[in-house]
Amino acid sequence: MQTLTIIKPDAVAGGKAGKVLAHLEAAGFVVRAARMTRLSRAQAEAFYEVHKGRPFFDSLCTFMTSGPCIPMVLERADAVAHLRKAIGATDPAQAEPGTIRKLFAESKERNAIHASDSEDNAKREIGFFFAESELKGNWA
Ligand code: GDP
Repeated sequence: MQTLTIIKPDAVAGGKAGKVLAHLEAAGFVVRAARMTRLSRAQAEAFYEVHKGRPFFDSLCTFMTSGPCIPMVLERADAVAHLRKAIGATDPAQAEPGTIRKLFAESKERNAIHASDSEDNAKREIGFFFAESELKGNWA
């Protein structure tokens, strides 16, 4: 099963991208696709459209466009649930010890990593960043 993650701009700018990826690989995820990109405002607003109208929407989009991020397709058994567990709660102050957000997040907004929260959203979010052809590489 596949899911989508994004190493967010705070983690990339803070030089933590490699550590986050090492943590993901140690948790049994295989990287099936990856790229570094800087989201446009329109892309950030479309990606987070479910949060449109929330008080933090504008600030979230400003943060997500503030620098490069690294979207990746990750694969392992039960990928969506395992990744949500590996990243920890949205607010690092609430996250379990050993989770990526507990280890690397700066704040509830600048929280190092995104992970799809359902299988349906994983499909949508993978399609948001990657073409079908990019998901069928030499590894298949
Ligand atoms: P996630 O699934 O754990 O990433 O959390 P949500 O889907 O609820 O929120 C999406 C993203 O918006 C989070 O990862 C944070 O970057 C940001 N965010 C969520 N809640 C808040 C909040 O209360 N304040 C601020 N400033 N940002 C938030």
